[in-house]
Amino acid sequence: MPKPSRKQFLTTSLVWTTSLFFLEGGFGLVTKLMADKKPSAPLPEGMHPVSESDPTAKALGFHQDAKQTDFILYPERKEPGSKNQFCKHCAQFTKINESWGKCNIISSGVVSTEGWCSAWSQRT
Ligand code: SF4
Repeated sequence: MPKPSRKQFLTTSLVWTTSLFFLEGGFGLVTKLMADKKPSAPLPEGMHPVSESDPTAKALGFHQDAKQTDFILYPERKEPGSKNQFCKHCAQFTKINESWGKCNIISSGVVSTEGWCSAWSQRT
């Protein structure tokens, strides 16, 4: 096999570097878009979201967006095994629409499918 010339080597390196750059940029954009996913369905008529200052919600560290969890108070929520812990997967959650549902424990309003609190338990 002939040894590649310096020009061929530089051209190949440039093509690989450029390809990897755009590939990473594309994945980065998709990852960011997925991370920014917010509830898209409207609030169910006549209902309001649970306030995060609701005494029960506060006591359980509830947030409508699980990414806002206080990870100092609840470090276990940051572990890889808890990445699917959202209200939508909780045993206490009853779905109303694609973005909202009722919680059996925090009942002063509706909770986001993307929410979380420390009373989370796996839906069976
Ligand atoms: S108990 Fe479950 S459904 Fe209710 S707020 Fe906590 S995580 Fe969400």
